[in-house]
Amino acid sequence: MREALRRALRAGGATAKDLSAEVGIRERDVAEHLEHLQRSLAHRGERLVVEPAACLACGHRFEGRTRLSRPGACPECRSTRIDPPVFSIVGER
Ligand SMILES: [Zn+2]
Repeated sequence: MREALRRALRAGGATAKDLSAEVGIRERDVAEHLEHLQRSLAHRGERLVVEPAACLACGHRFEGRTRLSRPGACPECRSTRIDPPVFSIVGER
C-alpha cells in the first residue's frame, strides 16, 4: 500500500481525494499516511512537495502549514470553499 502511494505521488500532483481513489485508502486517512511517508522519503533522496491549499473565495494560501490535511475553513474570510493541497514526490538528484 505504501508503495502504491509512492507510485501515485511520483506520477504527478494528486489531492487526498485522488490518492484515496488510486490507492484505496480513506480520504481522511491520506494525511496520516503522507506524514509517515514523508519521514521515510529522505533516506531515498526524495521529498514530498506540497502545493498549499487555497481559499476559493479570497485567494488566501495556506502556506507553511505543517499538517497535511485539508483545512476546514479560511482564517481570513471564513469560507469553507477550499481548494485542497496537491501532493507529489520529487527526487533530489
Ligand atoms: Zn478566504
